[in-house]
Amino acid sequence: MEKLNLLYEGKAKKVFTTEDADVLIVDYKDDATAFNGLKKGTIVGKGAINNRMTNHVFKLLEAEGVPTHLIEELSDRETAVKKVEIVPLEVIIRNFSAGSFAKKMGMEEGIKFLCPTLEFSYKNDDLGDPFINKYYALALGLATEEEIETITKYAFKVNEVLQKYFDSLNLDLIDFKIEFGRYKGQIILADEISPDTCRLWDKDTHEKLDKDRFRRDLGNVEDAYKEVFKRLGIH
Ligand code: ADP
Ligand code: UDP
Repeated sequence: MEKLNLLYEGKAKKVFTTEDADVLIVDYKDDATAFNGLKKGTIVGKGAINNRMTNHVFKLLEAEGVPTHLIEELSDRETAVKKVEIVPLEVIIRNFSAGSFAKKMGMEEGIKFLCPTLEFSYKNDDLGDPFINKYYALALGLATEEEIETITKYAFKVNEVLQKYFDSLNLDLIDFKIEFGRYKGQIILADEISPDTCRLWDKDTHEKLDKDRFRRDLGNVEDAYKEVFKRLGIH
């Protein structure tokens, strides 16, 4: 499979068309951004780690009944995926307080919730991805009621599978963001699942092994990504 034209260059990935109108090639970059692009940098090796981790995790999810866009890993950084129409919602699941939730609720980070939470942001960089609810999404035609039901069901399933999986790697899945798309009339999981999009803490030391090391200038950013990758046990 060959790249044809650059369709889109985002903050973390480039997306290319192919000869097949239903297939895209995603190329993961080492570029890192935070605070809606205000902070910029490079995390050496991140592109390959995020690509390979996403594909590994997507395979686990497929096996558990969550359909994904994954077709085939083409190289360290490149993967062929089903071209979807992205639903413009960032779906965020949280198991522990952290980040914007901790700030908003006046809580310290790392408090385990009684049950997972789910929230939506409107995927719109100009607006800074504002928090919205299901009714906004319906009123604005961002998704149908049926699509939101499917997305919600899959998002909690992703959480269940990933929580168990990361637990086995001695990691707490604090929270994460996922995106879904429409493909031939079905909702499928798209985009990525990586330390860029998840908060992962070592269960014993509570060390942060994710993009917060970059966002908050905590140091050892590359090492954190490498540590997560090492625990996945893929070579
Ligand atoms: P951003 O747009 O937030 O800067 P990226 O750099 O990760 O993000 O760019 C990847 C873009 O590709 C995102 O906008 C994402 O929604 C989109 N995308 C991810 N998977 C697919 C897919 N299977 N089909 C079409 N678009 C996708
Ligand atoms: N997240 C993401 N992309 C975004 C916003 C959030 O991948 O544009 C992830 C983030 O890495 C974390 C989770 O979603 O794992 C919840 O993030 P939060 O709302 O706390 O925002 P933040 O504190 O990152 O601004």
